[in-house]
Parts: sequence; structure tokens; C-alpha cells
Amino acid sequence: MPQGSSGAPSYAPGQYAAFEFTQQLLGVPDGSDSAPLVQRTWTVSSHPRQSAQTGTFTMTIKRAGLVSSWMHDELRVGQALPFRGFGGDFTPALLDGAGPATQPPGVLLLAGGIGITPMRPILEELVARAAAGGSAVPSKVLLGLWVQRADQAALTRELGDIARRAPEGMQVQLVLFTTRGGGASSGDVAGWRGAEGRLTAAALSEHARLAFGVRLGDEGEEHEGGPLAGWASFVCGPPGFMLGAEAALAGAGADLGRMHTEAFSY
Ligand SMILES: Cc1cc2nc3c(=O)[nH]c(=O)nc-3n(C[C@H](O)[C@H](O)[C@H](O)COP(=O)(O)OP(=O)(O)OC[C@H]3O[C@@H](n4cnc5c(N)ncnc54)[C@H](O)[C@@H]3O)c2cc1C
Repeated sequence: MPQGSSGAPSYAPGQYAAFEFTQQLLGVPDGSDSAPLVQRTWTVSSHPRQSAQTGTFTMTIKRAGLVSSWMHDELRVGQALPFRGFGGDFTPALLDGAGPATQPPGVLLLAGGIGITPMRPILEELVARAAAGGSAVPSKVLLGLWVQRADQAALTRELGDIARRAPEGMQVQLVLFTTRGGGASSGDVAGWRGAEGRLTAAALSEHARLAFGVRLGDEGEEHEGGPLAGWASFVCGPPGFMLGAEAALAGAGADLGRMHTEAFSY
């Protein structure tokens, strides 16, 4: 809970929280009072609706280097953190410019590793909007998460619960891709389809077909542009994943003008 604030933390689904640590707090050797501050941002993995009820927000942090390791090892329950505010525009509001007539047919939520964090509140927001009867909500959502091994996947149970709450008329498919063999089977993670391999145009097209079918033309050919023609996308992960995502989306016919990105650059 942000100190000094009254009421619930105020952020949009998909935004990040920013912090500014002193080196002394982090226990950096020789980190004096005048040493540069260490800035880090982590996506808020809760949804504003939960925060309105609890007055708190959550972050889901992978152990990587200096500060994330400190958060895992040293941070104590009740300890104050140097919070500086919420920010970012990687939110479902990016879809709002399109009126019902120009809504994309579907949305891809593509995450590499811990890049899954913004997808949790974004999917929850899309499902909530659909449940509220919003007309400007894409009726198909394909969420792909790429990890090396299935046990590295975060937030799968929470996302499975959200997908199950999708109202009639909205289709949500979750796919967990493992890139180092031992692919998760759908039985391993409730509500998820398991698959193996990297993010490619073929993988996106195949799972869109499996989940939503494909419209065939008069001569039995796939309609122009492929099954993902005109789809919008939200993509989040490390820099290499982002590059691969753009190529895959282009190859699958998705609308790159509606590709929205958040890079977790370390
Ligand atoms: C908008 C945004 C949202 C983010 N959201 C999340 C989130 O939800 N969850 C999350 O876990 N992360 C998130 N991140 C990443 C996060 O901000 C940090 O970058 C991450 O936690 C690593 O910080 P650190 O201080 O622990 O690691 P750092 O000390 O900065 O190190 C980062 C990486 O570099 C490597 N490294 C460090 N020093 C060296 C060196 N000398 N030589 C070689 N390699 C080195 C480390 O091993 C580590 O892999 C987000 C980033 C952005 C920009």
C-alpha cells in the first residue's frame, strides 16, 4: 500500500510501479549517502478491482540481479519500500481508440517468461469488459506464454481462473509453450493447452486455428491474410523475445499497427 495515500492504489491494468532505492538500503558495499539511486520498475500484477477491495497491489518478481535478489532475500513483511509512483501506457486503453466497427477480430497476448505479469491484469480487464456487455471488446483472445520449462511459468493458476470467467460469446485460449523440451500438457496446468517450441508465425496460426477454427473460402482456401488478419497484440518480454514476436506476428498476418509492446530490458 503506498504510504501517505488515502484509499486504494490508483493504477490502470498493465501499468508498472516505479521504485528508487539507495545503495545503502540494498547493502551495496561502499554505497554512501551520495551514491546514485538505483531505479527499478515492476509491473503491477494485480487488477485495480482487487486493489479497491484490499488497498494493496501485487508485483511478481523474478530473481535476476541486484535489486530483485534483495527483494527475495532481504525484504521483510511490513518494511517500507521507496515507491515513486505508477506509470506506463501498456494497458487495454490502447484498444479504446477503435470504435465497435473497427475493433480487431481478436487480441493476442504474448509473453516471454516473467513478461507474463501485465497479461494477468490485462486479461482480467478484457474479461470484465466483456462480462459488463461492452461492445468494443474483442471476442477472441489467444494468450501465449513462452518459458524454457513449465515449472518456470508464473501466474498460470490465476490466468486459468480468469479465463474460466470469460462470458458467453468471448473465447479465451491459454497456451503454455516450453522451449527446452518436456512440453507442458494441458493436464499439467489447469485451463492451459501445452505446446513445445519457440514463438513463430506457424505456432500462432496453428493455435488460433485449434482454438477458434478458421474460415475457409469457396475453394477451401484460408481467407486472405491468414487466421490472425487484423488482430491486435500486446507483447511483453525480454528484448530477444520482442524481436521474434514482431516477425512472427507479421508472418501470421496480424496488424503490426496494432502491436503494443513493453520490453523488460535488464
Ligand atoms: C516496464 C518494466 C516492467 C517490468 N516488470 C517486471 C516484472 O513484473 N517482474 C520482473 O521480475 N521484472 C520486471 N521488470 C524487470 C525489472 O525492472 C528489473 O530489470 C529486474 O528485476 C532485474 O533487476 P535487478 O536489479 O535484480 O537485476 P540487475 O542487477 O539489474 O541485473 C539484471 C540482469 O543482468 C545480469 N547482470 C547483472 N550484472 C551483470 C554483469 N556485470 N554481467 C553480466 N550480466 C549481468 C543479471 O544476472 C541479471 O540477469 C520490468 C522492467 C520494465 C522496464
